[in-house]
Amino acid sequence: MKATIAVLPGDGIGPEVVAKSVELLSAIAENYGHEFTFVEGLIGGIAIDETGDPLPAETVAICEAADAILLGAVGGPKWSDPTATVQPERGLLGLRQHFGLFANLRPVKTYPALLEHAPLRAELLQDVDILFVRELVSGIYFGERQEQGDGDSSYDTMAYSRSEVEQVANVAFRAAQGRRKKLCSVDKANVLATMRLWRRTVVDVHDEYEDVELEHLLVDAATMHLLTRPSSFDVIVAGNMFGDILSDEASVLAGSLGMLPSASLRADKFGLYEPVHGSAPDIAGQGKANPIGMFLSAAMLLRYSLQLEGEASAIEAAIDATLDAGLRTADIVSSGQASVSTDEFAVTVIQNL
Ligand code: NAD
Repeated sequence: MKATIAVLPGDGIGPEVVAKSVELLSAIAENYGHEFTFVEGLIGGIAIDETGDPLPAETVAICEAADAILLGAVGGPKWSDPTATVQPERGLLGLRQHFGLFANLRPVKTYPALLEHAPLRAELLQDVDILFVRELVSGIYFGERQEQGDGDSSYDTMAYSRSEVEQVANVAFRAAQGRRKKLCSVDKANVLATMRLWRRTVVDVHDEYEDVELEHLLVDAATMHLLTRPSSFDVIVAGNMFGDILSDEASVLAGSLGMLPSASLRADKFGLYEPVHGSAPDIAGQGKANPIGMFLSAAMLLRYSLQLEGEASAIEAAIDATLDAGLRTADIVSSGQASVSTDEFAVTVIQNL
């Protein structure tokens, strides 16, 4: 197949892990007879430095002409002055909004080889494989707000429409159908009117997916269940804020932020794929970045935007094989063990493909 991929390296370790992902995808193209064209664009701090804009029009045009976007990370101390008029993060929010990427998918999986590295008891972490589906372009982060510079009160509002809940619920139910056929919907229906609408809508959408078992959890209970019975979850769907908090909580199950991928999707096949981690300025330029989160994001790109399931699974298997062979980047190394660089880890994954 022929595909064009917009490549936005961004800041900090972004360019380091993105460069390795392009090598990985090129190896996939060669092994499976595909033709991938990579077109690079500026985003974030580096785009501010070069153009004054964290999301230059040229970058948007590159993404519009592509089948999918692969993004590293944005931000860093150089651009973190809160009084600055432009922030690197605006580039990312701008992309999500411009393309209407309403569903954020974040898989969290534990690896047998890394269980000792995680903060929970190993027996709780056996077979954890959760897919979070978070609503990304509505809810309290986008509601009307009143900010008072020096006043004593302010407010944010949370609004959801039935159609907004329906579209993200459909993504979650479909994902569950392709997995272990269980969906847990998280809300706060005992207190919030928007969350009662959320629950009613999810129940209605469920009629179209009778093969999927549906469970509802209040968000406060969900925070506990995530740590006491993480392996019982398959797909979890939540609104923007609750999904943000719960998926970050669950990220510790995997042992390192560097391991986690994400996809932001809309109704067609187009999507933005990026690791969950930020630009990690503390390790940038030192060859220490764990490329797994970025590599798994590239696998998600193949799976969701290009429908190349076999190729996506091949990347995941090559990462498993690399970990099973004992290779560890510095963030996942056990005490006394030697770590390998980003480069060494990446080269071995590519050899294992
Ligand atoms: P961070 O994710 O960049 O780093 C947190 C910690 O995790 C650091 O100690 C870092 O070294 C480590 N880490 C992260 N990714 C790693 C990897 N792949 N391998 C090994 N270790 C890794 O979060 P932060 O320090 O809070 O933020 C740094 C900058 O990144 C800020 O400017 C922030 O705004 C930005 N940020 C961007 C995104 C994004 O682009 N999507 C997300 C989060 C933070």
